[in-house]
Amino acid sequence: MCILPFFAKVLRISTSILAWYTKYKRDLPWRHTRDPYKIWLSEVMLQQTRVQQGLPYYEEFVSAFPTITDFANADEQQILTMWQGLGYYSRARNMHTAAKQVVENHAGIFPQDYTAIKALKGVGDYTAAAIASFAFDLPYPVIDGNVYRVVSRLFNICEPINKPVGHKAVYEAVTSIFDTHRPALFNQAIMEFGALQCTPKKPKCEECPLQSKCAAYELDKVAELPFKEGRTKVKSITHTYLVIHYRETTFIEQRKAGIWQNLHQFPLIEEALNRQEVIEACKQLIDNEIPLTLGDKFKTTHLLSHRKISAHFYNIYVDIKPLFLKSNIFETLLADIGTKYPTSVLIQKYLNQAKEDDK
Ligand code: SF4
Repeated sequence: MCILPFFAKVLRISTSILAWYTKYKRDLPWRHTRDPYKIWLSEVMLQQTRVQQGLPYYEEFVSAFPTITDFANADEQQILTMWQGLGYYSRARNMHTAAKQVVENHAGIFPQDYTAIKALKGVGDYTAAAIASFAFDLPYPVIDGNVYRVVSRLFNICEPINKPVGHKAVYEAVTSIFDTHRPALFNQAIMEFGALQCTPKKPKCEECPLQSKCAAYELDKVAELPFKEGRTKVKSITHTYLVIHYRETTFIEQRKAGIWQNLHQFPLIEEALNRQEVIEACKQLIDNEIPLTLGDKFKTTHLLSHRKISAHFYNIYVDIKPLFLKSNIFETLLADIGTKYPTSVLIQKYLNQAKEDDK
């Protein structure tokens, strides 16, 4: 491990970060509350999501479900509909399960110790530390992507941060500068410092209060850190969606598993089909005897963390109401997808395009 002997400066690092935070912090609604439910909501929403994008979602959820009991009692389809656009829907499903756990096992009162918080469904080290420190001022460092970056640079941590050896090095370095007297403030401050000052690209090193204490700056290694090893290879796949139109209605199914579990989609074949194969697949789903007209195709690409989906939406028209539908498929108004029936951003792209075409 190539951490330089910076430990004599750790106190000044912590003091400098707190002073910087006092001056530059953003005014965000979850910083005005000690309610663990609201803090939890903000932390879960902001994982993989930018603050500006997450903010309206946070406000909508807090307004619709002011307490954890309200959230626990909500209908999952309503939660997923409101979550549309944030992605990573397992976060919403897990939160819903965890809220029910709080209501059933803790009489609706959020647990106040780290172990009990971490026992809730979907709550990992990061979220448990965030709730424990921000809501209850318990001395747990919160290590998100911003903190990994700041600390890797400050201490010149060369181990890959996506491996246990890198996690350990960062954890030890954070612990060495952690302010145990003001855990909530310190955690907020270093995360904000990473978000605004020590950014992934073009960090503001020339006007940084930590410049003289920063090993990466001194060694001209800012652009190299943090270091990640062997990123997951992105696999390319094709989705063929069958958008069958009968007057104002279409036919959808609810996903049973995967990242879009419980969301709704047009019937999906997870491979590329030619036009004849599309017609054959449709006949299997609705009714062999009904004449079909194959219309135009909408193509789009959707990126997930480890998948690149090339999506082909085929418009298929029928003049006779299908009487046979494959068991999991049901008829709905096109306008109800994304409102009554929550759906993914990928399906939403098709719906947006269809609206444009109708203008
Ligand atoms: S000097 Fe640059 S790299 Fe070092 S902490 Fe400041 S902004 Fe980050």
